[in-house]
Amino acid sequence: MKKQEEQITGRLHSIETMGLVDGPGIRTIFFLQGCPLRCLYCHNPDTQDLNGGRIITPAEILQLSNRYKPYQGDDGGVTFSGGEPLLHGEFLAETVKLLKENDFNVCIDTSGYGQKEYYSQIFPYVDTILLDVKAFSEQAYLDMCFVKQKPLIDFMNQLEDYGFHGQIWVRHVMVPGYTDNKKSMQELIQTIEPIQHLVERLEILPYHTMGKDKYEELNMPYLLENVDPMDKEKAKEFEVYANVLLAEQMSKDRLDLKEKQDDENYRLESNISFKEQNKIIESFTDLPLLRNLDPKILNNIQNQLIVKKLDKEEFLFQSGDDPNYMYIIYSGAIKIYNVLPNMKEQIFYIYRKDDFVGGHNLLSDSKYWYTGEALMDTVVIAIPATIFNTYFSNKKSVLKEILSQSFARIRWAEDLINRLATLNSSVKTAGLILRLAENFGIKKNGQIQVPMEFDRAEMSNFSGLTRDSLTRKLGEFEELGYIHIENEILTILNFDALESYLD
Ligand code: SF4
Repeated sequence: MKKQEEQITGRLHSIETMGLVDGPGIRTIFFLQGCPLRCLYCHNPDTQDLNGGRIITPAEILQLSNRYKPYQGDDGGVTFSGGEPLLHGEFLAETVKLLKENDFNVCIDTSGYGQKEYYSQIFPYVDTILLDVKAFSEQAYLDMCFVKQKPLIDFMNQLEDYGFHGQIWVRHVMVPGYTDNKKSMQELIQTIEPIQHLVERLEILPYHTMGKDKYEELNMPYLLENVDPMDKEKAKEFEVYANVLLAEQMSKDRLDLKEKQDDENYRLESNISFKEQNKIIESFTDLPLLRNLDPKILNNIQNQLIVKKLDKEEFLFQSGDDPNYMYIIYSGAIKIYNVLPNMKEQIFYIYRKDDFVGGHNLLSDSKYWYTGEALMDTVVIAIPATIFNTYFSNKKSVLKEILSQSFARIRWAEDLINRLATLNSSVKTAGLILRLAENFGIKKNGQIQVPMEFDRAEMSNFSGLTRDSLTRKLGEFEELGYIHIENEILTILNFDALESYLD
């Protein structure tokens, strides 16, 4: 690249107007002149000299691209190949920007060796990179291309930092006696690990000798003189093998990442002594939810459970969180609520010992749309999503428990709607007391007692009344002899009278 009369220019070797393999769809391919590599198999050695070809401007590239646009259709576009197009950094930066402004799909065929100071001006405008990976070690690169491998490794590692958000087609030319073996394919997959998540296609191109005559014309030695072309079918077999390896590596990396996240969660969330945790988990098998589960399964999963102690007002999860666990309440209570547009907290449910939450979210893979917070000091057992999905989600007995809990929650929600819909504070208060009695009440001396483990603010959030109205109404009910409150215990003295408000 040079500047002529302040004009940014590059050097063009040739144009191909109907390229079918160098990027998606039909491509107009500009082969730029010059390459720092000297690949033994290069079939375009005439593109290597940086001073060859003819001078071209970005405007001329745009003009030519527009001329051939009708052939490119909806899927095609413009490809820059070479030589090594990234050797023309300033020219390419100007050109790809111009092409993008004119709505062209842009593809660059590169070996990753160029003027990296321009990369952040080039790659935000590139849709596809055809990345030629020549060999898989420092020495092999020197032997095959007479350059070091490191620039390619750096290129792959920094590509996204340069603003590249497109896809990559990885290509490797397979030369018999060099990389036509499984070990090389394994090394190829390891080499491209930094960019594997961007790889859309992995191609093994069989070495051919069609460029051989050009070496004679250029009076250059052809160093693969005695090497036969690569058998196309064998190359295809290696291509299939490499693609399988790539898929396996990507899936393994995804699992490793998931395990790492789960591990981090484990470390983050488990905050209880080992001894205490074991004691709690021992009682795990007695939980109603799990009572019909195969004891062998319970045995297998026990060491993967997380016991978490929450202080009063500590969050278990928040609205918008992913469902990573199903939680079983071991002791204490969790309130489930949302903050309404008027900033008032509306409690939907209060979960106590042996209740569970999160199972529905795991089954439907949906985020929490409410918040779970400890109403008091609480201990929960967390079942990680991986365990739930493997052992629980397909067990009839567990699904039945979840379903029956759903039914109870729907009933509870319907009741809540009814209570909130009425404007009458007596009805709201009576409904709240009876609902609490049904869920948390204890029968004692022929009466029902409700432990008042949550304060008046919580109760008002539950009932849809202001705190003052609720306190006043509870006082009235005491005076009427319907209830008696002492030592944080509400005793129902006249059940029928309270029920009459709801008839
Ligand atoms: S990178 Fe391409 S153009 Fe350069 S020497 Fe190798 S094959 Fe030839």
